[in-house]
Amino acid sequence: MYFGSVRFFKHLIIAVVILMITVPTALAIGFGVSNAGKEAEIGELKAQNVSLSALVDYYNGKTDYTAEEFMTVFEQLGIDDKEFVELLYEKDKSAFDKLFESAEVIANSDGSVEAGGDITTTAVTTTAPPQTTELTTTQEEPPSPYADLHTDLYCENTDDIIYNRDENYIYLTFDDGPSKYTENILSYLDTYDIKATFFVVPQDNEECKRLMKLIVDKGHTIGVHTASHVYTDIYKSVEAYLDDFQTAYDLIYEATGVKCDLFRFPGGSLNDYNTATCDAIIEEMTRRGFIYFDWNVDSEDALGATWTQMYNNVLNEVEGVSRAVILMHDHDSRYNTVLVLEDIIKALKNDPKNYTFDRLTRNVKPIQF
Ligand SMILES: [Zn+2]
Repeated sequence: MYFGSVRFFKHLIIAVVILMITVPTALAIGFGVSNAGKEAEIGELKAQNVSLSALVDYYNGKTDYTAEEFMTVFEQLGIDDKEFVELLYEKDKSAFDKLFESAEVIANSDGSVEAGGDITTTAVTTTAPPQTTELTTTQEEPPSPYADLHTDLYCENTDDIIYNRDENYIYLTFDDGPSKYTENILSYLDTYDIKATFFVVPQDNEECKRLMKLIVDKGHTIGVHTASHVYTDIYKSVEAYLDDFQTAYDLIYEATGVKCDLFRFPGGSLNDYNTATCDAIIEEMTRRGFIYFDWNVDSEDALGATWTQMYNNVLNEVEGVSRAVILMHDHDSRYNTVLVLEDIIKALKNDPKNYTFDRLTRNVKPIQF
């Protein structure tokens, strides 16, 4: 009998050894040809002297990276097998995502950097990459020029952040509410036992406060969107943004007892109205401990999408991301959102990917533009 015999195992071992030798060699030859151009691009990125910690922060909130961007990170980690990295990326982007996440980058205080976890590439530990000021500086940060403003406006939630690493998560988010449709939306969410997130525009009236309380009582996340939603006012300066944020924050607290730690910028963190101020505003809000979420799936309801467009936008875009933060609107003018919501939920619930719906918390990796 051949199977299980000594001869069989001999052949098996020989076959495995041959594969171990030939496959990497073939890959190396194949990629050697196309790698010259890539080398130049990588060199360019390296010349920009991007710091490791900045990159790690960047990727923690990013889902659509290029192979070159990833290779730069891996280079900084001392994993210099570019062909392998490129191959992985081309073959399976989500596996690549996991691989990067499992790297668990550790930046030591002496400036050296380690990668741990189940990395199957050549090197997993490395000595220090070119030193960066972010990794080596021991000087205290200069005080914020805005430290004297809104001195009570700091995120009070100081719980450790432990990111959810699981895939196929759906985070429904509703901006601009509450509205006359809020209760309809809440009842759909109840029907399908879904928790979601509402970035609200609180008004100082009883009906708005009642609806915000209802959102919280039903177990959803409430976050700050804005008080005025007037782009030209709020993005004029850091001071103007803080003023608007404080108004919204206080109204939400008064109505619900929740001290928000999450927020969403009107128009997203980078838009046509804040190019001059967004960096400073983000820096100041981050310094105060608040976390902002953009989105990676846009229903386009705010752009006037039809029922069909919204349905297709969401279902198509969800396919391409492992954790979908879906932008929708809870606003008196967004009737289509209410019309299509249940069908979108049903379609996602029936998807073979077996999506989990959840609300945003500090433990969801922020999606940021
Ligand atoms: Zn909005």
